[in-house]
Amino acid sequence: MTARVDRNLYPELQRFGATDISACFNCGVCSAICPLSVDGASFPRRMSRYAQLGLRDKLLSSPELWSCYGCSECTDSCPTSADPASFMAAARRYAVASYDRTHLAYLLATSRVFAGVFVVALVGLLAAFMYSVHRPVDGSTLAFFEFIPSDFVHNLGVAAMVVMGVAALVGLFEMVRRVLRGPGVGTARAAIRKAAGAAVYAVGTESLAQARFRKDCADAVEVRPWYAQRWFIHFATMWGFLGLLGATMADYGLELLGVKATGTPVPIWYPVRLLGTLAGAALIYGTTVLIVRRLRKSDRSSAHSTTSDWTFLAMLWVAGVTGFALELGLYLPQAPAWGYPMFLVHVGVAIALVLLVPFGKFAHVLYRPVALFAIRLRG
Ligand code: SF4
Ligand code: SF4
Repeated sequence: MTARVDRNLYPELQRFGATDISACFNCGVCSAICPLSVDGASFPRRMSRYAQLGLRDKLLSSPELWSCYGCSECTDSCPTSADPASFMAAARRYAVASYDRTHLAYLLATSRVFAGVFVVALVGLLAAFMYSVHRPVDGSTLAFFEFIPSDFVHNLGVAAMVVMGVAALVGLFEMVRRVLRGPGVGTARAAIRKAAGAAVYAVGTESLAQARFRKDCADAVEVRPWYAQRWFIHFATMWGFLGLLGATMADYGLELLGVKATGTPVPIWYPVRLLGTLAGAALIYGTTVLIVRRLRKSDRSSAHSTTSDWTFLAMLWVAGVTGFALELGLYLPQAPAWGYPMFLVHVGVAIALVLLVPFGKFAHVLYRPVALFAIRLRG
């Protein structure tokens, strides 16, 4: 494979938050310290080298880009302050924008003004669209699905899933085309033989159970209680979001099965509601800790925050907090004035989050398992 040199690669990466990697003189200390760099692999040093030499294709074809989980051990050990961990994070943002053909990911990651205006406008438009079909409600307690018909909300959610799915497939196709064409995959037969095990590893062990993330925390010099460790905060945030998504889908499933209509009051211990409550609490806890750590810059991994970090975290946090407030509002003896406007914001943010999956920080949910799959496939 001929390597093409792209002189604009480094300036482009800087637009995505890359630090001054010209300071890197390829000593290899970061590769020696990185937990992922086993058997003499030159990772992450190799990635800085690709950027210095303008090897765009090589950079975007490296699945290791996505296996890095931002522990910052490489940055701590770098003798020239080249900050390879921040470089890796910037390279991932650059990769998301490169896989996206609409240019939206590029604008969201490189312009704070555009990202802020776009997200607020998207949520506002979704809320206004829902409000356009609202019905008058005169009950003393909140009745969200009398205010906006549940079918309308469900159909809007399904439409958002379809749009997101198409955009995600385009991005995934581009990523797979790059990372699976590298050396080491072997014959198609050998690849298929390894595929099942690689898929279990990528999706189950590493993505859902976060095995290596936990191991890294266990090895960390700075010891925190389990509930404050990085892996647990990430775990709570991820499972909080997945739990809320699961509860919403299960609720709709119960309606389709004729078990209960969406929005029907149920006791707190009703399984779907309990799942939603616990997942909401986990999401709020995880995102709040992440936001506080980024504000305080108290963590090595949260010292450099970019537009996409803030946009993603803020949307998750708003979705969690408004969901919880609405749940509490259901128990109030009198329907609060903020109930229905907050419902519109909550659903608007949740749908915007789904729509923006392939275009921002959330994209790692799609790309990381595929990259881990490729790495395992290559052995
Ligand atoms: S990033 Fe730092 S530690 Fe890694 S090779 Fe460059 S100078 Fe050495
Ligand atoms: S941040 Fe951690 S996992 Fe990523 S390259 Fe650096 S040492 Fe390796």
